[in-house]
Amino acid sequence: MRERLGVDIGGVLIDRINDDTDTSFYSDNYLKTTAVPGAFDALRQLSERRFGSQIHLVSKCGPRVEQKSREWLDHHDFFRKTRVDPMNIHFCRQRQEKAPICETLGLTHFIDDRLEVLGYLKSVPNLYLFHPTSGEVEKHAQHLDRVDRVESWDDVLAALT
Ligand SMILES: [Mg+2]
Repeated sequence: MRERLGVDIGGVLIDRINDDTDTSFYSDNYLKTTAVPGAFDALRQLSERRFGSQIHLVSKCGPRVEQKSREWLDHHDFFRKTRVDPMNIHFCRQRQEKAPICETLGLTHFIDDRLEVLGYLKSVPNLYLFHPTSGEVEKHAQHLDRVDRVESWDDVLAALT
């Protein structure tokens, strides 16, 4: 079976560390919002060493944040630096809608910062909870036994390469 990796955007590629600062993604400075350290390099390595062209971005957000996310990815030269195919980007409006997208794409691995989202992904065998907030983890702790916790992109590389 061909391995296919899905990656969330907010909190996994775009760093939440900017929240409540003047580079918040929710401010007019969203193009200056920083990436999670090591994300681009790790995705390139994952493409070269394991997943090839089968890396997909799957993000839940409203239309305005979708547009900002697309601009941010272009501004940071994401697709050239990571070699992720620009066609492999999928947006949905509700958290539970990530599940049918993952199923249709045949994703075998998924990285997300929200345990609630990972809990919906019944079709994906390998789930990675990326640097979550403790409150969200407590709230959805019933899904913890299905996920591996990772705190950084170095941890992701260690788990997947
Ligand atoms: Mg997220």
